Amino acid sequence: MPEAPILFEHLKPLPQPEVGLAVLGCPIQHSISPQIHGAALKVLSGQDSKFSSWHYQKIEVHPQSLAHALPILADFGFRGLNLTIPHKVDVLPLLSSVEDRARTMGAVNTLSWEKEGWRGYNTDGVGLSRAIEVEFNRPLRDFNVLVLGAGGAARAAVAQSILDGCAQVAVYNRSLDRAKQLYDALINYDLKHDLLVLESFLNPFADSNLPLLMINATSVGLRKGDPPPVDITRIKGNVYLYDMVYNPPVTPLMLAGIERGYPVANGLGMLVGQAARSLEIWSGRDVSLSVMKQAAESAIS
Ligand code: NAP
Repeated sequence: MPEAPILFEHLKPLPQPEVGLAVLGCPIQHSISPQIHGAALKVLSGQDSKFSSWHYQKIEVHPQSLAHALPILADFGFRGLNLTIPHKVDVLPLLSSVEDRARTMGAVNTLSWEKEGWRGYNTDGVGLSRAIEVEFNRPLRDFNVLVLGAGGAARAAVAQSILDGCAQVAVYNRSLDRAKQLYDALINYDLKHDLLVLESFLNPFADSNLPLLMINATSVGLRKGDPPPVDITRIKGNVYLYDMVYNPPVTPLMLAGIERGYPVANGLGMLVGQAARSLEIWSGRDVSLSVMKQAAESAIS
């Protein structure tokens, strides 16, 4: 069983000189971020003893408590936070500043404490970009991209694909309205210009010489017995499949892709990539992706 999270209501100030890092969510029980960050912090402590006082934990914060929790966490000695469901969008008005990339995506998953208050970042997109390159041995920009879903993760995938310079990007979601909302939420006009919103599931770039990267950013695949979110037999061509779900490690969509001979990968690399980028922001140091990936794999198994 994963370690139980601390309830925000039970949290105490950290003893000096401890530096607190944490992931906030609700529910947060199943997060493996403490193991991933713990492994990287161990390596950093070996390089510089100041990191031996840095600790990462998971804290359950209810949506209605987030505004109250953020200044208290700073007072208690926390300097870096990750945010997961359901806080990534609602946190935006509570921050003193937000980097451009996160504002464009309309979602924040990393906070860093600065003189003026909490500053928001989005590292999910960078995590995805790094994972694609590692898993498929070619950069994200060398694909046409079709994103499935229209929630926060899909926003990050769409914006990152456009920012990385992918030739063509499309989004498909079972409810068209939400896909249109995703389009409207891209505040940068140049990014909107490059996004195609599909009304039905197909490969809109079938005539292109570039391979198609299909990214599952829906929550389908998380539950036992979930069918694939789309019928991939409707897609022809040179296809790669990236599923953001990583538990179970082989999802129904990945199985359908394997049957058709497509290269496939699950979302663990993205989880590790976003964690690594967050720790780089907090520490100002390069961190070891391989150590974090190993810790993630052993936490899952
Ligand atoms: P979200 O905001 O709740 O969005 C969920 C999306 O899934 C919506 O587009 C929804 O469509 C779609 N969906 C749900 N059930 C469906 C079904 N039965 N058939 C088709 N589509 C369905 O969630 P999120 O935060 O974007 O996260 C999405 C997934 O990405 C989750 O599995 C999450 O764990 C994963 N994720 C992974 C990482 C990583 O590091 N690997 C990072 C972030 C997120 P409607 O709009 O029609 O409801």
